[in-house]
Amino acid sequence: MTSPSSAPVALITGGSRGIGAETARQLAAAGWQVGLTYVSDRAAAEAVVNALRATGSNAVAVQADVARAEEVSAAFDAVEQALGPVRGVVGNAGIVAKAGDLADTTPERLARMVEVNVLGSLLVARESARRLSTRHGGSGGSVVLVSSGASRRGSPHEWVDYAATKGAVDTLTIGLSKELAAEGVRVNCVRPGLIDTEIHAASGIPDRIQKWEKVVPMQRAGTAAEVAAAIVWLLGDASPYTTGAILDVGGGV
Ligand code: NAP
Repeated sequence: MTSPSSAPVALITGGSRGIGAETARQLAAAGWQVGLTYVSDRAAAEAVVNALRATGSNAVAVQADVARAEEVSAAFDAVEQALGPVRGVVGNAGIVAKAGDLADTTPERLARMVEVNVLGSLLVARESARRLSTRHGGSGGSVVLVSSGASRRGSPHEWVDYAATKGAVDTLTIGLSKELAAEGVRVNCVRPGLIDTEIHAASGIPDRIQKWEKVVPMQRAGTAAEVAAAIVWLLGDASPYTTGAILDVGGGV
């Protein structure tokens, strides 16, 4: 259950695990009410929400596939109904797939990768613009998109397709930040490096973190908490003149 509050409302896509769940915890600790989405793991999403509520924060979980426009719009509606107008949006949901060469991928895999990481980011950004922009009757706010250091590396022999989708997220940040700069909305991007979350399991490489952390200048993988701290800074009032920024959180990579 939630009770009325004047605390600002954030919507996080993919808040059931990893970077999204940690961002939810840190935003709640910073005084935000949090609406988080998940696509399949309802139990994990509800566990995050229950933990936030146990600390006295208002929070809700909503099922929504970011690749479906009507589900993205419905998620914003559900969060606004439960908590109030959204002021901050974290476009975090994203997928990888089995590591390999592009030549060995299937068209179906490529389509889903683009659908979730590119179309999903565009739909969440579009909905944010329509709800937050003063030109559309909103009260302004802030959007943080989650890209990846893969957009610079290109990720050969692992997931060139994934890297390319994150390049699109970088470009989306640049363009939308300029479109909305005079309409009360800041748009920024965080580009995590090698972060220790469950996402790496999909690569099929059991020791992927151990394999790659040796080439990180800091000689270790990062944590979801270290990425979330950057997201929270960019989303809130501590960064009022920062827009169009792409912030690498990658241990020096
Ligand atoms: P994760 O632990 O696998 O969590 C992914 C989250 O996204 C889950 O909440 C999942 O929901 C949700 N999700 C997946 N597909 C979705 C869809 N179609 N619609 C809505 N939600 C969906 O991943 P993570 O490591 O925290 O990564 C979060 C973001 O950071 C991603 O964009 C990823 O590309 C990026 N990133 C991660 C790393 C890293 O090393 N971990 C590095 C660079 C960038 P369910 O629980 O319901 O499946």
